[in-house]
Amino acid sequence: MSEIDVPESHPRYQSLLTRHRIEEGVDKGITSRQGLIAEGRGEAFDYLLGEETLPSADEAARAAAALLHLAERPVLSVNGNVAALVPGEMIDLAAAVDAAIEVNLFNRTDERMRTIAAHLRDHGAEEAGVPIKGLTADARLPGLDHERSKVDAGGIGSADVVLVPLEDGDRAEALSVMGKSEIVIDLNPLSRSAKTAAVPIVDNILRAVPNITEHAQELESAATDDLEAIVRSFDPEAALDAAEGTIRSGDLE
Ligand code: ATP
Ligand code: MG
Repeated sequence: MSEIDVPESHPRYQSLLTRHRIEEGVDKGITSRQGLIAEGRGEAFDYLLGEETLPSADEAARAAAALLHLAERPVLSVNGNVAALVPGEMIDLAAAVDAAIEVNLFNRTDERMRTIAAHLRDHGAEEAGVPIKGLTADARLPGLDHERSKVDAGGIGSADVVLVPLEDGDRAEALSVMGKSEIVIDLNPLSRSAKTAAVPIVDNILRAVPNITEHAQELESAATDDLEAIVRSFDPEAALDAAEGTIRSGDLE
């Protein structure tokens, strides 16, 4: 038994654990109630994808790792669901690719911003040397209403590569219009967020983030040419088609 009162051998263990973490996130003021709905949508897609990392998603995770290594100013965006599900894993990834983390919320309140930043500090952000941005929201994404457009000028505002897990479609589009290379983690291959990404990773964030970190560690001393070749050979449409095809065929193990 661990975090929840269900044995790890339970066939739905992972999904019960995920629900528990999101619920706890809401109780702690990290996750908004809207986050519960996003979780439900994600779970449905994960079920249809067989609750495992598709080969196409693994390839996407590798391309994401290469892109993050190539970046000059990489930023990993963290919202309420991400903070509840994978706080330590996001810090490990940021440390592996020398990225900053920006707390960036769709339903932004100062209190929730501060609670999430404190939660990331509790998970060792400072010890890992990972800067936490977002508390100063002094730049704007074009074409969005005031609250939803806020970003940190020293974070996402000036980043060249951004990882935006579970991001809303409008904001994902605004980031790509600004010319940023976007890596999206989203279990729904039909979502606008996934479709606007340079690198869409159609996988559960619980599996995807540690997987990107593993690839990043493996590619740590790879030559720039090799990293560029990995990014160039990645085809975002093929990755989305592979995930959608798996769902439509119902052809699961
Ligand atoms: P759009 O179609 O404009 O992109 P949306 O309706 O998808 O918008 P939300 O419901 O806010 O917008 O997005 C939440 C997304 O996050 C959903 O696509 C859902 O599949 C995905 N999601 C939820 N939980 C997870 C998870 N654990 N891992 C990966 N993706 C997740
Ligand atoms: Mg979406």
